[in-house]
This record gives sequence, structure tokens and C-alpha cells, in this order.
Amino acid sequence: VEHKDDVVVIGAGGAGLIAAIEAKLNGANVTVIEKMAFPGGNTLISGAEYAAPENWVQKKEGLKDSKDQFFNDTMKGGDNESNPNLVRVLADNALDGAVWLKDYVNVVFEDRQMFFGGHSVKRSLVPNGASGVEVIGKLMAKAKELGIPVYLEMNAVELITEGNRVVGVKALTPTETHNFMGKNGVIIASGGFGSNIEMRKKHDPRMDEKILSTNTTGITGDGIVMGEKVGAATTDMEFIQTYPVCDPENGALLYTGDVRLAGSAILVNKEGKRFVEELDRRDVISFAITKQTGGVGYLFWDQAQLDKTEVAVHHKGEYEALLRRGILVKADTIDEAAKHFGIDAKELKTTVEKYNEYAKNGKDLEFNKRGGLVAFTEGPYYILKNTPAIHHTMGGLVIDSKGRVLDKNGNPIEGLFAAGEVTGDIHGKNRLGSNAITDITVFGKISGENAAKNLQKVN
Ligand code: ADP
Repeated sequence: VEHKDDVVVIGAGGAGLIAAIEAKLNGANVTVIEKMAFPGGNTLISGAEYAAPENWVQKKEGLKDSKDQFFNDTMKGGDNESNPNLVRVLADNALDGAVWLKDYVNVVFEDRQMFFGGHSVKRSLVPNGASGVEVIGKLMAKAKELGIPVYLEMNAVELITEGNRVVGVKALTPTETHNFMGKNGVIIASGGFGSNIEMRKKHDPRMDEKILSTNTTGITGDGIVMGEKVGAATTDMEFIQTYPVCDPENGALLYTGDVRLAGSAILVNKEGKRFVEELDRRDVISFAITKQTGGVGYLFWDQAQLDKTEVAVHHKGEYEALLRRGILVKADTIDEAAKHFGIDAKELKTTVEKYNEYAKNGKDLEFNKRGGLVAFTEGPYYILKNTPAIHHTMGGLVIDSKGRVLDKNGNPIEGLFAAGEVTGDIHGKNRLGSNAITDITVFGKISGENAAKNLQKVN
């Protein structure tokens, strides 16, 4: 079956849908193809928080921030391994992207922010329900309104070229072959490779089958492989991020643990002691957890923090299932809660007393926690058992600030664009929490606009 469009987008996750909408707004006929039976990818199952300096909630809360500060945090958070030109684009367009999602795509944001590890100030906007369902739902509605076809169960397998130019994508259903031709370009937005164990191991042998993953099953690096076949360069493939607070049995990212980011919680080990700053970077916390007894951590908080953060309301299904499965315990006393997991209760109580002292004086003398220092009060108390799991692959296709995919000599491959987790060099060694949604929005829009304008021809 042959389809003819101006622009074809591979992947109906956040980056792909945003790119398609922007391409359409720039006058292109555009089609999206998605290999899974549902749209959304990792964006759908994420919390979808959005880091935006100088945003409207910051203004309301009187928090000072700037594009430069966000740029610096992002560079530093990735150990200065990112391409500063791309990070500059990210920082300069972050707020505009958030406003676009809010005002044009109709994404509802809550009237609060979260403090993600590695940022120097609270700047992360929270979509309704702290869930990617809000973002993907609204993006799909907008795509429908604009008449953009989204083909599901359509697996892109190969880029079609004419001479040096990418002119389309070959895709398969269980029974048919489809050629999606894109006169102006193809945008790869197929996400990272967190669910591809072989690919993970090839680039970082530590990331083997023993480590669980938060990713959906479709996230297998297909776009990277397809790009490489037409000469695309890749970068930073060895930088693979684990998320510290995941389900020890199935690897799912545990949003109940967001008490840590939205309020105050401490992370202790089986010995009842804190061992890392709870708002440090994901890689730092993950690594620290793997060194504790049993390779697990225990997040502790009280009823006041649960109420304040409304985590049990926002993530009700997950919260209740965790209690039922005994991965989360709720108990009237610290002793009882600790006993459930065999944690040293006496030591935990000492840890809590010390933390309360730090909260009172506004200074964490052990780990210098940068925010969320609130003393614990009475029970019930909660403990959540957690372990790190593969979350984000920082590496991928090399792009320029126009979203064009570059070859090994640094020249744009005609007709080929990319955006989102499939690209590299934006988050360096470690992506900061809530920077991915900023990334897919900013670079999704840029790639969509430039593909629509058939940028290669103009240049
Ligand atoms: P991003 O955050 O960069 O948008 P997501 O993980 O949200 O990434 O979305 C990537 C989407 O691409 C997922 O829905 C995934 O199923 C889809 N995808 C991955 N590989 C292919 C492929 N070969 N053909 C079509 N869609 C693909």
C-alpha cells in the first residue's frame, strides 16, 4: 500500500505527536505511524512534569529563575557532556513550549510545582493528575481536530531513500507492507532503547537482563538502527539512566514515591540509616541504592506528607495495589512499619529524630538536602520498598539545532529529522527529572516546523 504525504512521523509518543501537529500548522500534510496498538510510548506512562524556567507558577510563588540558570543546571546535571547549542535551544524555548501545550493543545496544568533532583530551583510544572495520560490525551485530540492520521500497529522497519535523500518509510502490519512517502521529510520520534536488552548491554554491559525497566515494550531503539542504516551518526549511547524509585518486582516507576519530590521523605537502608541526599540526581541516588543491603532502598514518610502531596489521590490505583502487595506499608508506629521489612527500627527512629532536628534548624547536616526539609509528626507512617530500574537512554541520533539528523561528517542527511528520546547530546550523562517533556516539546516543534518547510532544499 502506498501513501503520499509531505511529512511522515515515526512514533506516536510525545515527540512524534508534537512534531506532527507543528508540521501540520506549517502547512504540511502529515501522517504518524505507531507500531504499538496504542499511542503514547514512554510519555504516556510518565508523570509528564515539565521543567520551565520563569513559568507562571514560579511567578505566583515568587520564585526567581532564569533561562541561564536552567541551562547551567542541565549542563551540570549531565556532567557537561551535552551539546551546549542544543541545551541553549532547550532553555530558550522551554517556557514557550509549556505555554503552547497549555494554551494551544489545552493540556491542563495543576496549580503547583514539583522539585526534581538536580535542579537548583523548583521549576517543574505538573499536568493534571501528574500523568502523561493528560498530555497524550490532549495531543491525540488535537491531532484528530487537525485531521492528522495516526496509524496504530504500523511498524516502521526501513527508511526509503532516493539518492542521498530520505523520501519515506517502509512499515509492516502483521499482513501488509506499507510505503509512507514524505516529500518534505521523515521525522524519527521512536523513543529510546530502554526495552532492548541486547542494545543496552552492547553499550553498557552493566545494564543487563537482571535490571528491570520502566519503559513500555515498544521502546527498542528502532529509529536509531534505521537512522544508522542511512548514515546517521549516533552519540552518547553508553549513557543509560536508571530511575531510583521503582517497583522491586516489575520495574515500574513508582509515582507513590513522589512524596520525595512533591513534599518531604527520607530514603533509608535496612539498617535504618539515610545514605544519600534525597533530591540528588537520579544516577547518584540509584548508584547509592545498589550499594545498600539487598540493593534496595526504603522511602519513609508520615501521614502529613501523604496528605500534603495528595499522592494517594493522584495515583490511587498504584497506591492501593502497592499496599495490597506489601511493597508499601502503612502502620501506626515506626516500629510496626519497620518490622514489616525487617528494618532496624531503633536506628530508624534515631534517623527520624535527627532529620526533625535538621528540619527545625533548616539545615541538613548529613546530606545537605536542598529543599523539602519538613519535620515528621505523628503516624500513620509509610515505608515504600524501592529499587532502581532502566528509565531513559540519553544517547541516540545526532541532530543539529534545527532538528536535522547529521551524518558522521556533521552534515544534515537530506529529508531526515528526529526529536525526543531517540536523539542524543541534550542530557549528557544524566537527564534531570522533568527535562524530557521539555525536550520532546521544544525539539518536537522544531523538527515538525523544519520538516514541513523542507529545510534541506532551502539551505
Ligand atoms: P518520546 O518521549 O521521544 O516521544 P516515546 O517513548 O514517548 O518517546 O514514544 C515513542 C513511540 O514510538 C512509542 O509509542 C513507540 O511505540 C513508537 N515506536 C518505536 N519504534 C517504532 C517503530 N519501529 N515504528 C513505529 N513506531 C515506533
